[in-house]
Amino acid sequence: MKKSLLRTSLLLMTLLLLVSSAAAEFDALAALRYRTSYVYAFSQGRDKGSCRMLRGDIELTVILISADGQPWTVQDLGNVNRSVDKALATLEREASDYGVALSITPVYYRTTAPADVDTQGWRENAIASIPELADVQSWTNRPVLFCLNTPGRCFARTGSESMEYVIYYVDYDPGTVRHELLHLFGAEDFYFHEEVEAAAIRHLPRSVMLNSDTNAETDPLTAYLVGWTEEPEGAAASFMADISHLTNESVETAREIDQQSGTGTFKLESGMYYGTLEMGVRNGLGLYQWESGMSYVGDWTWNTFDGRGTLTWADGSYYTGEFDDDNRTGKGTYVGPDGTVYTGDFINGRQTGRGTLTFPDGSSYTGDISDGKRNGKGTFTWSDGSSYTGEFVRDVISGMGMMTFSNGDTYIGQFKDGAMHGTGTMYYSDGTVKNGKWENGIFLGE
Ligand SMILES: [Zn+2]
Repeated sequence: MKKSLLRTSLLLMTLLLLVSSAAAEFDALAALRYRTSYVYAFSQGRDKGSCRMLRGDIELTVILISADGQPWTVQDLGNVNRSVDKALATLEREASDYGVALSITPVYYRTTAPADVDTQGWRENAIASIPELADVQSWTNRPVLFCLNTPGRCFARTGSESMEYVIYYVDYDPGTVRHELLHLFGAEDFYFHEEVEAAAIRHLPRSVMLNSDTNAETDPLTAYLVGWTEEPEGAAASFMADISHLTNESVETAREIDQQSGTGTFKLESGMYYGTLEMGVRNGLGLYQWESGMSYVGDWTWNTFDGRGTLTWADGSYYTGEFDDDNRTGKGTYVGPDGTVYTGDFINGRQTGRGTLTFPDGSSYTGDISDGKRNGKGTFTWSDGSSYTGEFVRDVISGMGMMTFSNGDTYIGQFKDGAMHGTGTMYYSDGTVKNGKWENGIFLGE
């Protein structure tokens, strides 16, 4: 009896030891996994770097740079002032919603130091030209915003114990200023990795780190990372749980893809791109083939169709010509899916102005066009050789005009809904002339 008890307890002890060593192994594995996780990596940004916690009195240094020597316009200055003011006011209000006192004061500096922003050293030049910034590298909790009066992709340089800064380009909205400033204090992007983005859309859909719209908000995870809360709470915790399996490496790879530069072949979010990329932004000459079957080849300006190019849709229809700010604007040719060809003026993708339409049946029109319709004055020629020159109302012959029939008869006068209607004269090819009133194509008399 005693013996068997001893044996049982020995067996139990052995089992317990086995279980606990397995648990220790599991803990070690879990710890290792955690250390390589994306969640761990971005959590390390909290209270680190030269910009630590976004709280208390903070001075924001704004340095206005004349990109490539181009002077600042009153309008660009106004845009920057308005965006910065609005961004700071929003951050202060949001901090106070978390019970955190925050007051950010912008101090503006202007430099005329040469700034060829494509070459190294322009930032150092700018700093060196402003005596007040002599010890900028040793500042703590003093963010720096370099403002450039040229288009570009804003970004934040973070994670450094010396100066953390934002490069800010004109025409961006206050949401972008907030997004980048939050980065300096530890916030993380939620948009460039597919799974992170999906989890953010589920749990933090209004986050300014997902989409830097003016109306986007500082989400609870960002609030934790910038030091407004002690723990990631509520939706922040659910979001972190959903992405806890992701390794930092996999997310870093996605970040690199999002920010790649150079000329060559790139796999982008929704297709392949062959051309020039600057920090993930299509700029210069390039061909983008979307997975949807659409493609564009031509000039790009900051991810928009701008200049000359050809846009081809999945159904085979295409436009070739001028683009402005993503729109077909200027002169161009559109070939529709049915083979109809329009060559002429475009305004914001609409066939409007003057142009020539050629139809698959061989007929054609040259003249005034409004929204793709014959409207105003023009000439229509049928494939049998007959033609009409005169007024059109929304694709219909109406008003004054001259119709030449294929047999040589010619009518000059009024038309309505495509027929001779009103006063007019018919010159028959045999020499007879009928002059008088017409109704729906029928001669009523003199
Ligand atoms: Zn960002």
